[in-house]
Amino acid sequence: MDSPTQKDKFDSLRRLMVQRQLRERGIRDERLLEAMERVPRHEFVDRSKWDEAYSDHPVPIGSGQTVSQPFIVAEMLRLAELKPMDVVLEVGAGSGYEAAILAEMVSQIYTVERHSDLAATAREILSRLGYSNVMVVTGDGSLGLPEFAPFDAIIVAAAAPRIPEPLFKQLKEGGRLVIPIGAPEMQILEVVRKTDGDPVVTPYERCSFVPLIGAGF
Ligand code: SAM
Repeated sequence: MDSPTQKDKFDSLRRLMVQRQLRERGIRDERLLEAMERVPRHEFVDRSKWDEAYSDHPVPIGSGQTVSQPFIVAEMLRLAELKPMDVVLEVGAGSGYEAAILAEMVSQIYTVERHSDLAATAREILSRLGYSNVMVVTGDGSLGLPEFAPFDAIIVAAAAPRIPEPLFKQLKEGGRLVIPIGAPEMQILEVVRKTDGDPVVTPYERCSFVPLIGAGF
């Protein structure tokens, strides 16, 4: 729990993060900016990393994984064109940070993490912070969650060599799949929109994510 002085410090670091790293780089979605100004990013990293929590880079979260740079989180969520009543699947819960932002913006979020220790920590933090519309599932998210499909949007926070077919199948018509596609060292962030049942792919910027490890492609 933060002391009042710590809370003020983190609130002000978060406002600066939103202004300098997001608004000044062209993020204009006000609902997204407000959500990122509300979610206490430092709560999702170990206390020893609190000083780095609002920096302009990924932060280690254990098990060799990271919580992504704030700007790339914002880009992925902007590209997903989220609406308040959407049901969303996230693949790669990691710390639970991106799921918390999603929980602020949509009606229901399912997030899958292959590392059970990370999934357990994410579940605990999200519950402590009062997010009741997030379900954290341990497993292989490249297979999606057919029991909760179809989804308005699917956000994949790890890099795949190609589009995982099970994820595309679990999109609603008009749904958006946001996913880094490419080689392990560098990928392109792509939006795949289900249009008359077929994928329409739009490539966006270069990015570098940890690999998606699974059986779905
Ligand atoms: N969204 C996370 C956050 O807010 O902290 C950061 C995600 S981190 C960049 C990528 C995560 O994807 C890692 O935690 C990794 O273990 C997970 N991952 C990789 N392959 C996976 C799979 N097939 N299913 C579920 N999670 C996977």
